[in-house]
Amino acid sequence: MVRAEPGRYRVVALGANRSVEALAAQAKELRPERVAISDPALERQLRQAVPGGTEVLAGPGALAAIAAGADVVVNGVVGFAGLPVTLAALEAGKRLALANKESLIAAGPVVQRARATPGAEIIPVDSEHCAVHQCLRSGAAREVRRIVLTASGGPFRGRPAASLRAVTVEDALAHPTWRMGPKITVDSSTLMNKGLEVIEAHELFGPATGIGYDAIDVVVHPQSIVHSMVEFRDGSIVAQLSEPDMRLPISYALAYPERGGVEFGALDWSRARSLEFEPPDRKAFPCLDLAYRAGRAGGTAPAWLNAANEVAVQAFLDGLVPWTAIADVIEETLDGHDGTEPTGPDVVMEADRIARVRARQAVERRFASR
Ligand code: MG
Repeated sequence: MVRAEPGRYRVVALGANRSVEALAAQAKELRPERVAISDPALERQLRQAVPGGTEVLAGPGALAAIAAGADVVVNGVVGFAGLPVTLAALEAGKRLALANKESLIAAGPVVQRARATPGAEIIPVDSEHCAVHQCLRSGAAREVRRIVLTASGGPFRGRPAASLRAVTVEDALAHPTWRMGPKITVDSSTLMNKGLEVIEAHELFGPATGIGYDAIDVVVHPQSIVHSMVEFRDGSIVAQLSEPDMRLPISYALAYPERGGVEFGALDWSRARSLEFEPPDRKAFPCLDLAYRAGRAGGTAPAWLNAANEVAVQAFLDGLVPWTAIADVIEETLDGHDGTEPTGPDVVMEADRIARVRARQAVERRFASR
């Protein structure tokens, strides 16, 4: 994005968890004032690789520490670990370009409080929510009747529930339309990604529009051209379309309320194309309804859902449990949810920790009984 529009943006800080070489290469090109690495063992290596005069921060709090010093903070941390960055950016009154959905899902009420900080705002980078954000600009918040999130359906769309017992890690990682990391790709194959996005949509757009879970729908759209839709009270449905290209939502979040100056994912109308829509198969993909269940329960239930999912997906990727066990592990974990209310970040962290312990126990029982 920064390369695409030279002179429009200035990178003031860059951070990574452990990717020290990529971070150093970007620092040489973009010359930020500060760089941060979460793994303190990599501090020395990073220090030697960045241009002289670059401030180096290292350790668990390093990413959050650089999140307060820019006009726009892009949070692309993977998983629940992104929460401190989300909170640091919002509490500093910054615009958060949010690519880390887990922080919002697991810690919704805590993030909402931080979002009330003057100047703080969230512009979603998740393609569906970026689409909804754009569609909402064509009507007043009180005129919204329904949000419709589109789902590609993942690699197992159309397969009967019984045939999904034997799918391999390789099968699950073969996403038809998007190229993404392994965790989110498995989430797409189970439809948990869409389930998490339902909760994300509720957190992002619920407060302004007043819509609840009954007014957030999921429709399977295998071409991934319509990124999501908003239905208004007069029956009009507004949709956002483009080829799948994550550079477009990133560009939108950086440039908002203006538009980015470079075209990403524009459609070629000189060739014929068909767009299909179908309801999701809720029996073959039970993770979708598990997410609705956790979202409706509220409190720390979404944090439990997210934690159990991260554990179950990792166990599947490690070959410990079959793909179908991902939903079973999450359901069993949610059954034990203790009803704790998320009064602060510490409570959410603790909920996350407890849910991971429970989910690991559920994994171990399944692994032992194979
Ligand atoms: Mg998405």
